Amino acid sequence: MTRDSADVVIVGAGIAGCATAYYLAKAGVKSVLVDRDGVARHASGFAYGGLYPLSGVGIPGPMFALAKRSFSLHRALAETLPGETGIDVGFRLRPTVGLAFSAAEAAALRDNVAWVDRQAGFRAEWLSAGDLRDVDDRIAADAFGGALYHGAAEVDPEALTRALLRASGAALHVTEAIGLVRDGDRVAGVRLVDGDTLSCGTVVLAQGPWAGNASRWLGIPIDVQPLKGEILRLEAAGPPIACSIGWRGNYATTKPDGLLWVGTTEDEAGFDDRPTAAGRASVLANLARMLPGVEPRKVVAHTACLRPMSGDGYVVVGGVPGAPRVLIATGGGRKGILHGPAMGAACADLVVSGKTDLDLTPYDPGRFRAS
Ligand SMILES: Cc1cc2nc3c(=O)[nH]c(=O)nc-3n(C[C@H](O)[C@H](O)[C@H](O)COP(=O)(O)OP(=O)(O)OC[C@H]3O[C@@H](n4cnc5c(N)ncnc54)[C@H](O)[C@@H]3O)c2cc1C
Repeated sequence: MTRDSADVVIVGAGIAGCATAYYLAKAGVKSVLVDRDGVARHASGFAYGGLYPLSGVGIPGPMFALAKRSFSLHRALAETLPGETGIDVGFRLRPTVGLAFSAAEAAALRDNVAWVDRQAGFRAEWLSAGDLRDVDDRIAADAFGGALYHGAAEVDPEALTRALLRASGAALHVTEAIGLVRDGDRVAGVRLVDGDTLSCGTVVLAQGPWAGNASRWLGIPIDVQPLKGEILRLEAAGPPIACSIGWRGNYATTKPDGLLWVGTTEDEAGFDDRPTAAGRASVLANLARMLPGVEPRKVVAHTACLRPMSGDGYVVVGGVPGAPRVLIATGGGRKGILHGPAMGAACADLVVSGKTDLDLTPYDPGRFRAS
């Protein structure tokens, strides 16, 4: 039975799927979403929410244009979405401090400061060990120094994802997609686990770390794997931490909810997304390394979720070779909240006009086929 129909069916109501629905709606295209767990129930609902387009895999390099585009889109969304939806997406500029605990780390950060300082709209400066005390006197006394990055921002990923869905006006079906409906070589819809179908002319697969499951539907490899990460939300003694403090992929800041958010871990644990005692111990140990002067009082929440990591670390965005009108939007990895709006906007462009002004060549979903 056909349960619903739309121009486009989007599988996955994380940030990639909801951003696609949002930009399609702006172009006057009706979409419906399907997600087996609801909106923002996985990484898009539990990420840290840091937004910084000047670091990460492929930056500088093939991911840079997309990261900068997406950061601009975040700024625009922060202006419009609250009025459109009544949802505060929590966007705010938030300086970031990267710590160095060795001469090698200090040298790498100094090089990075010099590079960032040449990028329009951003500024960075080297902080001596003494300067770090002025930022926050709870930072480790044995830190060599650090880099202060101005122009970084943060957002509430869960609120942003929900706001994108609400503003899109798209219906969300909470169920599992198990395959595609074909009409000759044309896609005609999405098959659901209960036997129903959603009919459409275009499908966007925004399945996050589960993207590889669609390999079977499409007959091409989609090299995306889950990388688990854990975060603690703590009550802590003392004043809030007024910037984001980071070291080797670990971070801590006081969020608008008044809690100290601290992360993170990186574990290849398949699709097991349960928080672990080892993850909690690791996060607390790294907090003590960065900010020994912070006294955690209570763990208010301990979350774990799965980053969608592609084989080369770049996003997977674009049309599927040999499957006209099937698109993929995944692979945001450690920066999928940052990249989400540009991924969604690019997919919407492809649906509407078949092209986009962002060069998607490095993100081609067909690149995982053996050459
Ligand atoms: C600890 C941690 C911290 C992070 N911090 C940051 C950060 O500070 N900044 C940043 O930019 N990024 C961050 N990220 C990364 C970011 O969270 C992810 O890259 C991003 O949320 C991925 O979004 P997505 O929409 O691709 O996938 P998801 O949010 O995983 O959404 C995919 C959805 O698809 C659905 N789905 C899959 N298959 C099916 C199916 N067959 N049928 C129905 N539904 C299906 C799932 O239920 C899921 O809801 C962090 C990640 C982690 C783990």
